Amino acid sequence: MYEGIVQELIDELGRLPGVGPKSAQRIAFHIVQTESFDVRRLGELLLVVRDQVRFCIECGNIADQERCNICRDPRRNRALICVVEEAKDVVAIERTREFRGLYHVLGGAISPIDGVGPEQLRIRELLKRLADGTVEEVIIATDPNLEGEATATYLSRTLRTLDIPVSRLASGLPVGGDLEYADEVTLGRAFEGRRLVDEGR
Ligand SMILES: [Zn+2]
Repeated sequence: MYEGIVQELIDELGRLPGVGPKSAQRIAFHIVQTESFDVRRLGELLLVVRDQVRFCIECGNIADQERCNICRDPRRNRALICVVEEAKDVVAIERTREFRGLYHVLGGAISPIDGVGPEQLRIRELLKRLADGTVEEVIIATDPNLEGEATATYLSRTLRTLDIPVSRLASGLPVGGDLEYADEVTLGRAFEGRRLVDEGR
């Protein structure tokens, strides 16, 4: 334990995702000791980001305007929608350059243990987007783990009534993992090899 506020800083940093106690300590000491490190800039940036960043009214992606830059891009194929759990998955898929359609960010995955059901996800918004008939294929790209699978199954059942082809990414993604950790080649291949879901058809 360190004295007062330094320990407070370490504790606070340790609450960030992916930062263990060791890293928290290292970052804290960097902030405290490194003269060239611009603390003011980081502090201001955190406030500005928290203040200005919003979520795209169309797809739920992180945006700095009403619509994100993907939804605003006229070159994107509006007949394709790729459904992902989080905005970070959009970044991972964009890196593969395999997909030129639009996205729909659910805001998580179905997880009864964490109290997340379908109502907590942006599924209603998705159905609304699909209602006007422009979309010709929905690609489900949830994480290859238990929650992601449950979400994909729920979605494909829900979308069945709409008569829009629903596909899922091909296997080959590391099972139990997070979409964002899949390398670009594997994720790109999973896209190319996506398969139609034909539950109960
Ligand atoms: Zn958007």
